Amino acid sequence: MNADATSGKVKKDGQGNAGNAELDLMTKIVSLCKRRGFVFQSSEIYGGLKSCYDYGPLGVELKRNIAAEWWRAMVYKREDIVGLDASIMMHPKVWETSGHLAGFSDPLVDCLNCKERFRADKAPRAAASTTASFRKGGKASGEELQAPVDARGYVCPVCGAPTLSSERQFNLMFRTGMGPVDPLSDFARSIAGKDLSAEDLRAKLEEAVRSTAVYLRPETAQAMFVQFLNVQQTTSMKVPFGIAQVGKSFRNEIVTEHFVFRSCEFEQMEMEFFIEPGTQEHWLKYWCDERVGWFRKYANAPERFRLRQHDEDELAHYSDDCYDIEYDYPWGWGELEGIASRTDYDLTKHSAASGAKLSYFDQQKNDPTTGKPGWRYTPYVIEPAAGLTRAVLCFLLDAYSEDKGVDYEGQEKIRVVLKLHPRLAPFKAAILPLVKKDGHPEKAREIVAEFRRAGINVSYDEQQSIGKRYAKHDEIGTPYCLTVDGQTLVDGTVTIRDRDTATQTRIPVASAVATVMTRLAQGE
Ligand SMILES: [Zn+2]
Repeated sequence: MNADATSGKVKKDGQGNAGNAELDLMTKIVSLCKRRGFVFQSSEIYGGLKSCYDYGPLGVELKRNIAAEWWRAMVYKREDIVGLDASIMMHPKVWETSGHLAGFSDPLVDCLNCKERFRADKAPRAAASTTASFRKGGKASGEELQAPVDARGYVCPVCGAPTLSSERQFNLMFRTGMGPVDPLSDFARSIAGKDLSAEDLRAKLEEAVRSTAVYLRPETAQAMFVQFLNVQQTTSMKVPFGIAQVGKSFRNEIVTEHFVFRSCEFEQMEMEFFIEPGTQEHWLKYWCDERVGWFRKYANAPERFRLRQHDEDELAHYSDDCYDIEYDYPWGWGELEGIASRTDYDLTKHSAASGAKLSYFDQQKNDPTTGKPGWRYTPYVIEPAAGLTRAVLCFLLDAYSEDKGVDYEGQEKIRVVLKLHPRLAPFKAAILPLVKKDGHPEKAREIVAEFRRAGINVSYDEQQSIGKRYAKHDEIGTPYCLTVDGQTLVDGTVTIRDRDTATQTRIPVASAVATVMTRLAQGE
């Protein structure tokens, strides 16, 4: 994922106002996540830690299921992609070479009028020396003020004021230290008894810290580039082929927002697809279609996933074309996955910096420059890079629905249903004894054991009335409820209730596992 991948949000109506009903949906999702155990605030008993979240018992299942479906589509169903699980901390040279150490930083500016902190390169342009009008404090009731736009040529994106602080660089990578030596001791020794200016102190401190500095990776992609040779040689993969990885990445984001949408610690599902130079247009289109199709396959509202081509000025300098898969979030269209044509930039850079020959020899092809048999080249790369934690949010938003209906007692009420695709649902089925006696629990547990033997995650639930249990499983997205009742013990059948239609039919206990498995495999 490139450094710009987290920037830019599209507002719903161009005025920055998303509809109340839509923001309401977000509030409902956050509330459901906490109430049912999908997502909790990190360290909540201590007041939480900004933008850090914990995935609870149901959230971890949903997240793992999404990652497993991605892995199935990318690795298990194909012969041309293999997996990797790389270390989160990598040699600092990796980040120096990739440009993250120098360039993975945003020029930040504070608005002196409304106190907004924003990225200078994303701010609205205004011609230097013209006069900008704005309201004092950024408030609609504030006094109208005017001030000249300075040579930097932009204004505050919130209030339009040109009264701004100077730009400051801010590295988005998390830095930590590795090794038994505390660099601060070196630092203390080096300044003892000296009278140094603030700049000199800063430089000496930086020097001391850098000696042991390692970084938490800001993307998983670099590992696929630096392990290109090991993977290619051990597997004998032939270009075109890909390396896939799911894992955590870390960015010290200034603006964290929209629940798990933008947080400092997040998970990615990235794949680097190595191709012959000149075939990038074909493969970029191929992966755009594959990836948007993948999301839509699991969606209730496929039209809320779209492809958007990057404008020329959005492209990273090494990229010759790029698309985003965007989702129609409650606050507007926003990024979910980036699919970039990265040329041979990464392999070329790492070859030059490390001395390793990160190239590929194709015996079947003629070298286009000499015409002789055999062609050694540096592969080009197409990179579909998806946010796993963002996908969790998208699928929750996509699945949330409220149906008007009647509850088990015949009362009219709103039925909250999480219409998750069965393959993503935390539980595939709930096995429910109608009552906590008369042999129902024993029979239900026998059925549970059958499912567990088949490797299917099911819930056994005997608390509360059957109506409340149905409502709970609707709300957490369990696609099927199997209920053991008096008739089960007589004729060996159970009711199977469909989450989305709330209709029930009877099936033989003996075919319960097979029935659920068949339904899970639908559309495969
Ligand atoms: Zn402002």
